[in-house]
Amino acid sequence: MNQNQLKPYMIIIIEETHPLNFRSFVKLLNQLHLSFVIAPHPDSAIFHAEYTNPDVILIPFDPNQANPQETYHKLKQAKITENVPVLWMNSYSDLNVQYLTSFTSTLEANNPLTASNFSFGDLPIDTTIKSLKNQIEMQQKLLIKLQAENQHLKRLASLDDLTQVANRRQFYSYLQEQWQSCQEDYLSMILCDVDFFKLYNDTYGHLAGDYCLQQIAQAIETAVRRVREPEPYLVARYGGEEFAVILPYLDQENARKVAEEIQLQIRYLKIPHRSSPIRSYITSSLGVACSIPGEESHLQELISAADKAMYHAKSEGRDQVKVASDIL
Ligand code: GH3
Ligand code: MG
Ligand code: MG
Repeated sequence: MNQNQLKPYMIIIIEETHPLNFRSFVKLLNQLHLSFVIAPHPDSAIFHAEYTNPDVILIPFDPNQANPQETYHKLKQAKITENVPVLWMNSYSDLNVQYLTSFTSTLEANNPLTASNFSFGDLPIDTTIKSLKNQIEMQQKLLIKLQAENQHLKRLASLDDLTQVANRRQFYSYLQEQWQSCQEDYLSMILCDVDFFKLYNDTYGHLAGDYCLQQIAQAIETAVRRVREPEPYLVARYGGEEFAVILPYLDQENARKVAEEIQLQIRYLKIPHRSSPIRSYITSSLGVACSIPGEESHLQELISAADKAMYHAKSEGRDQVKVASDIL
C-alpha cells in the first residue's frame, strides 16, 4: 500500500506487566508506517477512543493475564468503544514482522481475517474495512478528477482561444523564465506577421480569416517541431495576425534557419490570397533577434529588435526573413 494512503488507525493495549520488548515493538510498528496509539490499560484505550475514533483495537496476547477476555468485555461495556472492532493476537510468539505485516495487509486488502491468525472480538471488522476502503477509493477518484480539472484550467488560462497556441500572457512569462535561465547564453526570438491580412479579411470574410490564422499557427508548430523534437520551441500568438517563437540556447544564425522553415511551412499551405499585391497565396514576414541575457541587456530590447527586423522584412517587400544582427 502507498504510504501516503489512509491507514487504518488502531489503539493497541499493552498492559504494564506485558513481557513485550516495548521499544522494539514500537520500532516495528513505525517501520510498517502504522497509525497507532498505545494504551497501558482498557480505560486508557476508552479515553483515547473518544478523541481518535479508531478503526480497530488490537490486544497482543499477554501470558501474564489470568483472564484475557476481561479486557475485551470492558471495551464492549463502554459506550465509546462498544462498536469498535477488537482483535487480539493469539500467541505471544506471533509478535514479529511477518505477523504484523500480514495483519496490516489483511486490513488494507480487505481480506477476510482467518481464525488461525486472529481471534475475533467482533466480526464487523470486514464491514468496517470495506467502508474505509470505499472512502479511500472515493477520495482518490475525486482527487484525480480535481487534478485533471486543474490541469485543464491551467491550459485554458495559457492558451489562445482561436489558435490553441500559447497566448501573450504565457509568452511573457515563458520569456522571463528563459531570460533567467539563459544568463550568459543565447536566447533568440522570432516574430512572424501575416502579409496583407487585412486585405485577406476584406476579400474572404472574417471567418475565413480566423480559419487562416488557425492554419498558420499549425504550420508554425509543425516547423518548430521539425527542428526540435520532442520539446519544440514555444509558439505564441503575439497579437492579431502576429506570432512569436522563443528559442532558448539558440544563436542568431540557427534561429534564422528556424524562421526560414516557418516561412516555408506557411507557403506550403498555399492558402489562396487573390488580393495580395505580391503573390497569389498567403505569405509572411519574419524578424529574428538574438540576445545574451545579462546585466548589460534587457528583455524588452530583444522583443523590439525582433519587431524592427520584422518591419525591415515588410519594408523590403514582405515574404522574407530579416535578422537584427546589430543586436549582438
Ligand atoms: P501587413 O502586410 O503590413 O502586415 O498588412 P496587414 O493587413 O496584415 O496588417 P494590418 O495591421 O493592417 O491588419 C491586420 C489585420 O488582421 C487587421 C485585423 O482585422 C486582422 N485580425 C487581427 N486579429 C484577427 C482575428 O482574430 N481574426 C481575423 N479574421 N482577423 C484578425
Ligand atoms: Mg501585424
Ligand atoms: Mg500583417
